[in-house]
Amino acid sequence: MRDRLFYLISKYNLKANSDLGQNFLIVPDIIERNVERAELSEKDAVLEIGPGLGVLTDALSKKAGKVYAIEKDSRLVKILRTEYDWPNVEIIEGDALKVEFPEFNKIVSNLPYQISSPITFRFLKHDFERAVLIYQLEFAQRMVAKPGDKNYSRLSLMVRAKARAELVERIGKGAFWPRPKVDSAVIILEPKPPSERIELDENLVRALFQHRRSTVLSALKKSHHMLRLTKEEFRKVREVILKVPHGEERVFRLSPEDVEEIGEFLRREGVI
Ligand code: SAM
Repeated sequence: MRDRLFYLISKYNLKANSDLGQNFLIVPDIIERNVERAELSEKDAVLEIGPGLGVLTDALSKKAGKVYAIEKDSRLVKILRTEYDWPNVEIIEGDALKVEFPEFNKIVSNLPYQISSPITFRFLKHDFERAVLIYQLEFAQRMVAKPGDKNYSRLSLMVRAKARAELVERIGKGAFWPRPKVDSAVIILEPKPPSERIELDENLVRALFQHRRSTVLSALKKSHHMLRLTKEEFRKVREVILKVPHGEERVFRLSPEDVEEIGEFLRREGVI
């Protein structure tokens, strides 16, 4: 696998494009472990973001019924289409943040780190069974952070509202070519059953987490413009806002249920 990757790199005289987060996996064990973690069978349709030179795609195609691989770099799309003859892989050329997703039930990907945040939010808007994803370590740690942790953020809260996330393996820089500047980690993401998912008001979450170390009351005051309230309008509802649930709690300690409660109160009182 590693030989094939370097053969392709030298055959096409390929320079990795760091703007596209091109750090190719060169350790076969990691690929095998992630394919195992996806628990694939013939019944599965897998979405892969950024197939690169196809090393993970190749392993996925041997286990899944169908693989959809979305790749933005047209040079790589050309190489994939020339070098491989997978019967069950569809290469989709385009930006994974923009192209329409095909029908899939699993996701396995060594993600381009530049789009970690928006692509994760996009995944969470879809229904799927399980995702096995490689992220930068720091991002992965934020995904699994709990309320009150020092790195608990908007991302942690939004993930927690919709899914169970587990960090299952740390990966050193040496597992990639070219070597990235930071370590990575594997996350398994499983959406919660619909009855347990919490729909949060994204504007409210942004407004609160803009000031994650402040109390809820103070964060709402400082971010009133993000709730589309002018200073004057905020002044009028000030008395109401003083009664907001969890008003004295620090934002970084709020669970999704707490934020849901705050949202319900503000809607009921006509503030948002
Ligand atoms: N899967 C390969 C591997 O594991 O070796 C490559 C992973 S590399 C970290 C990320 C891949 O995502 C690159 O092939 C890059 O060109 C592609 N990519 C970057 N931005 C993208 C985007 N917005 N949409 C689709 N693919 C993208």
